Amino acid sequence: MAKEKKGVRLEHISKIYKDPKTGKDFYAVKDANIVIEPGSFVTLLGPSGCGKTTTLRMIAGFESPDEGEIYLGDEAINALTPNKRDTAMVFQSYALLPHYNIFDNVAYGLRLRKMPADVIKQKVTDILGLVGLEGMENRMTNQLSGGQQQRVALARALVIEPGVLLFDEPLSNLDAKLRVSMRTEIRRIQQEAGITAVYVTHDQSEAMAISDQVIIMNGGIVEQISTPQEAYYYPNNKFVADFIGEANFLKGKVSAQDTVEVEKTEIKCATGSMDIGAECNVVLRPEGATLSDSGELKGIVKYSCFMGAYQDYHVAVGDALVKIQEYNPKNKKIYNVGDEVFLNFENNTLYAL
Ligand code: ATP
Repeated sequence: MAKEKKGVRLEHISKIYKDPKTGKDFYAVKDANIVIEPGSFVTLLGPSGCGKTTTLRMIAGFESPDEGEIYLGDEAINALTPNKRDTAMVFQSYALLPHYNIFDNVAYGLRLRKMPADVIKQKVTDILGLVGLEGMENRMTNQLSGGQQQRVALARALVIEPGVLLFDEPLSNLDAKLRVSMRTEIRRIQQEAGITAVYVTHDQSEAMAISDQVIIMNGGIVEQISTPQEAYYYPNNKFVADFIGEANFLKGKVSAQDTVEVEKTEIKCATGSMDIGAECNVVLRPEGATLSDSGELKGIVKYSCFMGAYQDYHVAVGDALVKIQEYNPKNKKIYNVGDEVFLNFENNTLYAL
């Protein structure tokens, strides 16, 4: 549907703001280098204040970078105003025209472009079909649920066939259940429309569910750009490991290639290019170990709680308190507080940082 899928490239992009409290300049975004492939769904992810919205707004043209250059396809766009860029934004607040019906809201951008009425009718009808609002052209937007309003906002952005679609936390005003179903819808619509999408969220499960690539930011710095799977299994650092999913960190020392000594016990762990003898943190995901009466790493159960799908444990291993989730606990031995247990690691679950 989109006339041309466009990629986005940020080269050495920085944005400096003045801190209103101290009056000092600081980098809201620092030296960001990002390549977004045409047709991909990419999410800017990170805690509040990390610079993700600022990055998105620079792509849209609502903010201009202090350093670096942004490209849309092959075109350098720093000097272009938002309406001259081949982008469209879907906002958290929907930003619909309240006294217009659905048709007029979606047709608005096409009328501005002075398209003929019959073309507008066809395009609006097609897009409303795509977002699941067929037959609702005459409904006023103030008679719609939050999810329906967000579909109208999405249709209005898509109908002008932008090269890149930008989303600024579009689901944060919806309740938890609707958020989950709408994110699946957004992904389906993006794929059917075959459009490049850049999406901002602070919700890591939302990012994992919809993205081809995640861009994880922290304090204005891009910490990692990768698939969600790579970020989960091979985080670049402790921040990423902790931000994407839950992580335990066990202090260890690399004793051989892919072997780490933790609490005087040798365990198998991906060590990459780390030197023998290097101190490291072993990243253990809660589902990455099982408990049994004998095995690899000894610990004492400090907390044990049935959660339905899994048994939730805290296990003291040396000075560390390790969180373990054992799935399908029905047919497994349940350990209680005070029990001595052994953690066993399946192949390839441990990763050293
Ligand atoms: P959130 O999830 O809370 O929206 P974010 O990751 O999107 O956070 P940004 O909105 O990009 O973060 O803000 C990055 C930093 O820049 C924050 O410290 C914010 O307070 C600051 N900031 C944003 N806009 C301005 C501005 N116009 N003037 C000064 N500081 C700003």
